[in-house]
Amino acid sequence: MSYRWKSKFVACVQCGRVYRLSELKEIAKKEKSKMLKCPYCGGTEFTSDFENVVLIADPQKSIVAKKLKITTEGIFAVSWK
Ligand SMILES: [Zn+2]
Repeated sequence: MSYRWKSKFVACVQCGRVYRLSELKEIAKKEKSKMLKCPYCGGTEFTSDFENVVLIADPQKSIVAKKLKITTEGIFAVSWK
């Protein structure tokens, strides 16, 4: 695996959560699966074509989280190309 791949991020199309590609590959390897799967929602479709991300640390207090209807903490892609 090259260094460039390690630093690449992808977003789950279904829930918008952002993951490191290497992280998803690691999970797939552990599950002996060839498909990358979102650990949160189980979605199998990902895109690297997103422009902005938000980090929600406290969804209860975050105005951004309320606006985007995000109820759990995490890093989310907010604008798609
Ligand atoms: Zn997901």
